[in-house]
Amino acid sequence: MKNWFQRLGYRMASFLYGRYGNDELTKALMITSLVLLVLSWVPVLWFFYFLALAVMIWSLFRSFSKNIFKRRRELDRYLKIKNGFFGFFKLRRNKWRDRKTHTYFKCTKCKSVLRVPRGKGSIIVTCPKCGERIEKNT
Ligand SMILES: [Zn+2]
Repeated sequence: MKNWFQRLGYRMASFLYGRYGNDELTKALMITSLVLLVLSWVPVLWFFYFLALAVMIWSLFRSFSKNIFKRRRELDRYLKIKNGFFGFFKLRRNKWRDRKTHTYFKCTKCKSVLRVPRGKGSIIVTCPKCGERIEKNT
């Protein structure tokens, strides 16, 4: 019996070897599918059950996939969208938090957001991303 369990363990390990495993997108998909599952209990939203199932299958497919390169690219795309979305609110929050001590403005060349201390008079700011020099009155 012990041998059987040992072999099962080996088989499981060899099955999981080289698989992609879990990442942030897999977790987000699992949470989404659970939310959809709960929503499907509402009689009018019964079809959410199938959506939840599809999302769960997608998530399982991702974690057992052997095409690590493709899964990585999916994760990159997901993180880019997520950070773009939450970054917008984060910038708003930081601007509000620093409204008395710092001023924010966009680089004229690369459009990245720069933060400089307030009340320093006329200063020349060098963009750390593209090296553009901008004269700014703070
Ligand atoms: Zn720049």
